[in-house]
Amino acid sequence: MISVADAQARILAEVGRVAPPEVVPVGDCLGRVLAEDVRAAVDVPPTDNSAVDGYAVRSADIPVTGLRQLRVVGDLPAGAVFDATLGPGEALRIMTGAPVPAGADTVYPQEVVERSGPVVRIPSSPVGVNVRHRGEDVRAGTAVLPAGSVLRPQELGVAASLGLPQLLVRQRPRVAILSTGDEVVEPGDARKPGQIFDSNRFSLHGLVEAAGGEPTDHGIVPDLYDVLHARLRAAAATADIVLTSGGVSVGDYDLVKAVLQDAGGIDFWQVAMQPGRPLAVGRIGAAHFFGLPGNPVASMLTFHLFVRPALWKLAGRRDLFPPRFHAVAMEPMSKKTGRREFKRGILSYTGQRWEVRITGPQGSGILTSMTLANCFVVIEEERGDVAAGDTVSVEPFAVG
Ligand code: AMP
Ligand code: MG
Repeated sequence: MISVADAQARILAEVGRVAPPEVVPVGDCLGRVLAEDVRAAVDVPPTDNSAVDGYAVRSADIPVTGLRQLRVVGDLPAGAVFDATLGPGEALRIMTGAPVPAGADTVYPQEVVERSGPVVRIPSSPVGVNVRHRGEDVRAGTAVLPAGSVLRPQELGVAASLGLPQLLVRQRPRVAILSTGDEVVEPGDARKPGQIFDSNRFSLHGLVEAAGGEPTDHGIVPDLYDVLHARLRAAAATADIVLTSGGVSVGDYDLVKAVLQDAGGIDFWQVAMQPGRPLAVGRIGAAHFFGLPGNPVASMLTFHLFVRPALWKLAGRRDLFPPRFHAVAMEPMSKKTGRREFKRGILSYTGQRWEVRITGPQGSGILTSMTLANCFVVIEEERGDVAAGDTVSVEPFAVG
């Protein structure tokens, strides 16, 4: 038996390589991982500019009390530039985003002034300075986005604000996915008694995509040595990671074991966790191999715990594990000491605190527990039964 943490450490120690970089247009970079630091060549914003529609003035002209009348010397839309310096007694009509002219340092919002023809009267209080300063967002020469960052919408916007049309990102790790088992049938095909429709290939495909990998579907493989051997080798030829589900529990483990021993080497682990105890980890040629358990919840959970960090390391990511939070258990949860248990949880905020309940029956074949859930409740090895009101750890599905 090996712990979840030890299994994770051993797997990550095996991933030495990082996917090669490629240049991708910024608009196509969502979810990709930066291969180099992004440095700013320019200031953002490039000039001091107005934060409001109004009148740019010199602060020396702001009256101490009452109103002062200034001469309006021009009208500046966004995108235009006022070439001259604003002189004493002068104001410039200015739109949001237009560069604040030399000499001016304060912008009055148009709502607080009185305009009549060629003059504007300004009160003693300008209601703030209303100037956005050159470089206040980004200073030229600074590193703005570090290598290893995952590009979210805001990173794409920042890169574009620096004038960059494309970025150097890591290639997506290629993940080949196969299901094993004579009982497993393609959805839509006819099903004989004793057979079930394949769900794992579809959940795993989605998990790989959501993790930023590039999944390829290699179908269902029967429990036959020659077929499995040929299909795994073919899958590994164009993949960084090969994933199978099924065939690692004691009943049929010999087959995967025999094939993998010939193809590159394999370890079978009993991980001290529930669900998802059996796990096979090895290599097929240059590809990493993960033999995930067949039970649908177990295969999703073992992906989450063991495959995703490896995929993320290959993808060049800095952070390999999602954040964990505390919540109050709203009901008792049964738990055996000596193993880490993962319940499917429903996490909600009550206005006071984060609370979590479990989704109902927790069997590792009950895949709808995953559709009802929005988090894993993670109950650590040393803990026993959880009572209502106890604090537990949760890992929300959508974070990270
Ligand atoms: P195994 O690990 O092959 O012993 O499978 C454990 C359980 O998971 C069995 O009930 C299998 O029928 C089921 N199972 C295996 N592969 C799949 C799959 N691709 N989709 C859904 N269930 C599966
Ligand atoms: Mg099987």
